[in-house]
Amino acid sequence: MAEAIIEVKDRIILCARCFNITEVSPCAICTDPTRSSAICVVEEPLDLIALERTGAVRGRYHVLHGAVSPIEGIGPEKLRIQELVQRVEKEQPDEVILAMNLDMPGEATASYLHRLLAPLGVNVSRPASGLPAGGDLEYADEITLGRALQNRRTL
Ligand SMILES: [Zn+2]
Repeated sequence: MAEAIIEVKDRIILCARCFNITEVSPCAICTDPTRSSAICVVEEPLDLIALERTGAVRGRYHVLHGAVSPIEGIGPEKLRIQELVQRVEKEQPDEVILAMNLDMPGEATASYLHRLLAPLGVNVSRPASGLPAGGDLEYADEITLGRALQNRRTL
């Protein structure tokens, strides 16, 4: 049993494209040819799982591995933001969806990303209301989450 757990841990890596946790890089979502060019940006791999369950995301993802939080000393350089900018420049997605949590660090991260991405000429959107304020995205129920994503607004 313990050996099996170690084995799984050894195989888990980050996808070189979207930084989701995976066993193969690029991951199955990144190599899925049926997906649109849109990029849905999330804070953590668990958020990706929650959004993927709603089926509302037609594109691919980008996992930041955190949110900007000056109080906790987490600056943009600690997140996968540079990689996101490079991806947007290279992939020219139809849309970038900023699906951060609706709390202070999530909002700070979304507005930072918006300022960074808008000059690149890409459509940037944010899921509409419907998510519990201050709540973690991963805990929102599927229907609420799916609806918030469908009714997203362009920034
Ligand atoms: Zn990937």
